[in-house]
Amino acid sequence: MSNNTKDSELPHVAFIGLGAMGWHMASHLPKVCKTVKVWNRNFEKAQQHAQSFGTIAVNLQEAVQADIIFSCLPTSADVENLIARVSLKAGSIWVDCTSGIPSSACRLAEKLKKLNIDYLDAPVSGQTIGAENGTLTVMLAGHYDACLRAKPFIQAFADLIEYVGESGSGFAVKAVNNSLMAVNLWAAAEGLSILKAQQVDLAAALNCINHSSGRSGMSETIVAQRILNGAFDRSFALNLLQKDMGIAIDLMRRSQLELQVLQTTHACYDLIKTTDAASMDFSAAIQRLEQDTGYKLRF
Ligand code: NDP
Repeated sequence: MSNNTKDSELPHVAFIGLGAMGWHMASHLPKVCKTVKVWNRNFEKAQQHAQSFGTIAVNLQEAVQADIIFSCLPTSADVENLIARVSLKAGSIWVDCTSGIPSSACRLAEKLKKLNIDYLDAPVSGQTIGAENGTLTVMLAGHYDACLRAKPFIQAFADLIEYVGESGSGFAVKAVNNSLMAVNLWAAAEGLSILKAQQVDLAAALNCINHSSGRSGMSETIVAQRILNGAFDRSFALNLLQKDMGIAIDLMRRSQLELQVLQTTHACYDLIKTTDAASMDFSAAIQRLEQDTGYKLRF
């Protein structure tokens, strides 16, 4: 963007949904645009955000008048309900960072296109620490030109922005990614259960695994940071992971595939009731395995 661009010509940006992820993601936007408006259902959070990061807390109708509107809500249903409540501005781009449902992305892209608005599915990965550091991975999908226009703003909180295809493809990649994460975490915990039963020191075993071919992103981070220390700090709610796995299983069925590992792992995480899962970190699902085996995985 040229230095000669007048402030009045700069795109106005808004962020909707200041939760565990959105709070940090929106905090980076003032680096790339002068005016960042924020809205949150619990409005006090928006006011706190404005105080902390120099954003502007506004009502929902004002937020959706921005040129680029980001959202990061729990589910596609939340985004669809919210969009149904507001009047949008022609020519804007809606960048939905929710981990959502591919068919919802197609429906919203079609609906908003009639209003001359581009809807992009842009789910993110990298946990709250990635959001805080501005190093997220973004799986971007939808109209290609709109993706190019939105990219400089997404860059504020991302290290990798990958264009993955037409509407819905971003949500599909995210659902599969999180299912792989769930498989890796459960598999690592099962392996460590065997080692615990064999009275092997778990810290030493994990160190070997993390320098060997059995390692994964989960064994390298979450296993030590949330399970072996017994912390289970809530950062990514278990019910949200259950939702992501459900989306992947639904895509699997629509693709007429029967995939054993994904289905079995989904069933393991689904043993915990959604109502309980909302207040638990996803890592706490491993406590269910610990109950079944009788072995607690701790340092
Ligand atoms: P949180 O539960 O922490 O935050 C949810 C946000 O959405 C809050 O701002 C909440 O507002 C708002 N909200 C909830 N329901 C509604 C509604 N019906 N209408 C309007 N606003 C609503 O979730 P996360 O930030 O953890 O997750 C957001 C999305 O990002 C999810 O799709 C998740 O799967 C995905 N994700 C999460 C990661 C993580 O590590 N946490 C990592 C990568 C992706 P209020 O404050 O009023 O409750």
